Amino acid sequence: MQKYIPNRKCVGCQEVKPKNQLLRIAKNDRGVFIDEKQRLPGRGAYLCKKAECLHLAKKKKGLERSLKVTIPKEFYDLLDKFFAENYKN
Ligand SMILES: [Zn+2]
Repeated sequence: MQKYIPNRKCVGCQEVKPKNQLLRIAKNDRGVFIDEKQRLPGRGAYLCKKAECLHLAKKKKGLERSLKVTIPKEFYDLLDKFFAENYKN
């Protein structure tokens, strides 16, 4: 039987996709994290695995709005690096 995969919306381009095709960003009482395995507790926001969507999310403050938290510049720097290293497109 096929496993059911729920859909989530990218906070960059706003497209809805199966969540296993997206990168989860988690927020909990310890901070904001890149949650590659989608297992961290807390609130989650999702991004397509494309630099373009990260760029859009930054511009539109999609992560801030979705996670209801201020995203430090350092975290965006980390995301930039993560996308550059992992998602070449
Ligand atoms: Zn997207």
